Amino acid sequence: MTRLELDGVTKVFGDPEKDGVVAVDELDISVPDGDFLVLLGPSGCGKTTTLRMIGGLEDPTAGEVKFDGTVVNDVKARNRDVAMVFQDFALYPHMTVRENLGFGLKREDNDMSGAEIEDRVTEVAEMLEIEELLNNKPGQLSGGQQQRVALGRAIIREPRMFLFDEPLANLDAQLRKTMRTEIDELQSEVDITSAYVTHNQEEAMTIADQIAILNHGQLQQLGTPDEVFNEPANRFVAQFVGSPNMNLFDATVEERGDAYRVETDAASFDIPERLVDTEIATDEVLVGFRPQDLSQARGRNRTVTGPTFDAEIRVIEPVGTEAVVHGDSSFGDVTAKIGGFHDLTAGAKLPLTIAPEHIYLFDAQTEELLK
Ligand code: ATP
Repeated sequence: MTRLELDGVTKVFGDPEKDGVVAVDELDISVPDGDFLVLLGPSGCGKTTTLRMIGGLEDPTAGEVKFDGTVVNDVKARNRDVAMVFQDFALYPHMTVRENLGFGLKREDNDMSGAEIEDRVTEVAEMLEIEELLNNKPGQLSGGQQQRVALGRAIIREPRMFLFDEPLANLDAQLRKTMRTEIDELQSEVDITSAYVTHNQEEAMTIADQIAILNHGQLQQLGTPDEVFNEPANRFVAQFVGSPNMNLFDATVEERGDAYRVETDAASFDIPERLVDTEIATDEVLVGFRPQDLSQARGRNRTVTGPTFDAEIRVIEPVGTEAVVHGDSSFGDVTAKIGGFHDLTAGAKLPLTIAPEHIYLFDAQTEELLK
């Protein structure tokens, strides 16, 4: 087991003095022994470069990569004892599954006997339920089976760390879901520290102990899935995490006596309860609420406690027992995810209410969450 730390890790491609690209910018991340870190962010935000620096495939321009407190910047990739799984599986096409699995164990510095290697190959094949495929070549396997072999090759050596770079990107949606559960289970079973790159937030939310959200090479937030969803550090995280995207609108905060009120184009309301003791240093804010935190402000037995406003329905997209409704409101475009949508029609007026405990405020200038 290994504790992973990145201290001020930076990567500039090209000449830092001239037109260099800052791919990773002073990253500080700490991952406890056995934890599953997911690096999440949009294309080009520096996820793969970060992973490659952890694995020793790329040298940091500045900063330190540490395994259990020891700086490994100068340790070559092959000596870091990490196993990498890539999206293209990288299996040897001319070898059988058995040979692909056993290959890593046959390295010169390994004193395992042939029988011991065979036992370990069988053990891993059973764990991944690919015993039947041991004599097949990769070309005879489905994408999911190839991915299992790639995973098997990673775990067979019991490395000190797993590094995954979008390992499920080439699989269809259904298989992605199955495989991500399997990776999650496997990692918990073997309890090996892992770093996993994806731009798929659903994958990140289900698999991670901690998520590092990157944008333009900079860490936006490091937290549990629950933290990044429920306490997004800034506007970027708030909009990147969660589907459909959080609604965000300009607003002002005005002091009324010893209380604050939020004024928007669509509604005005008291500052959320949890912020009443917060010193609000700005009057320009962004108000945010998730589509799931809107509900219809009408109907019998409905007591409305939050701010309400009307939306004119543009589009209704049913998703199971709920629907995503896009509408026009005095806020601007608004998205709601609501139940009881069967009597709704495009063009109709829909009164909506926002769950008051799920209203977020961000400083309009710094874009940081007010808390
Ligand atoms: P994706 O999700 O598209 O794979 P990513 O988040 O993994 O993206 P990186 O591949 O780490 O992003 O790239 C980060 C930035 O560094 C990008 O602007 C990319 O163009 C640049 N970059 C990556 N590798 C190199 C390289 N070898 N030379 C020059 N620039 C590079």
